[in-house]
Amino acid sequence: MTDDQNMRRDELLKEIGISPVWRLRVAPQAAAEVAAFAPAAALAAHEPEVATTAPTVSRNADAGPVAGMDWPALKASVADCRACVLHQKRNKTVFGIGDENADWLFVGEGPGADEDAQGEPFVGQAGKLLDNMLSAIALKRGANVYIANIVKCRPPGNRNPQPEEAEACSGYLQRQIELIQPKLIIALGKVAAVNLLGRDASIASLRGQQHLYRGIPLLVTYHPAYLLRALSDKSKAWEDLCFAVETMQRLQSAAVAAI
Ligand code: SF4
Repeated sequence: MTDDQNMRRDELLKEIGISPVWRLRVAPQAAAEVAAFAPAAALAAHEPEVATTAPTVSRNADAGPVAGMDWPALKASVADCRACVLHQKRNKTVFGIGDENADWLFVGEGPGADEDAQGEPFVGQAGKLLDNMLSAIALKRGANVYIANIVKCRPPGNRNPQPEEAEACSGYLQRQIELIQPKLIIALGKVAAVNLLGRDASIASLRGQQHLYRGIPLLVTYHPAYLLRALSDKSKAWEDLCFAVETMQRLQSAAVAAI
């Protein structure tokens, strides 16, 4: 890396509250620029856990009435949706945003006040942190990245979505995933993880392993809004990002080998 790139990376890691800055000892040549963001210690720590855990399956059998919809029809359906009580106090639905053919899909919990006002996921402070987390692994919102939430309307007072609300909204996300066909899903926070995996478990027990959502590899890390409050867990989030990069590299290598 050039001195300028090193400075930029150091700034990003400082921005997401991670120090000291780790240095990569060995990086695959083909992905050197991406891997250079990953601390060797964190990568090494994940080596025994590359093997996948037993597949976990979404509790949602199909996308229901939105099955087969294309992007315009799906967006229109969400914009008019009144399938749960969350429609009553929303200002805007928050459909999701990004590259509709992305390899990376990040899924959060639901819109907050800023998102409800702007109709875009992860704006405000949590969004800024997510953008910095993406930058730290050489990703950028909208470029090979799609960002969505479990529910498309803001839960009042930023409470967690109720199970019936998440269930009512699940077909939309499921159809988005079918259309995007991401290589890797990152669940941001417990609400996203529990709803995508269809089972209750702590973030601590879910992170650091590869799960499956309907056959698609899924990793779990902390929600950026939580990380804004829990500074001590930012280093764990960085480990999760390194694991995500490593997992994507492995998936890409496997895809090339299969050709
Ligand atoms: Fe419809 Fe989802 Fe909004 Fe509920 S949260 S009203 S299911 S779009």
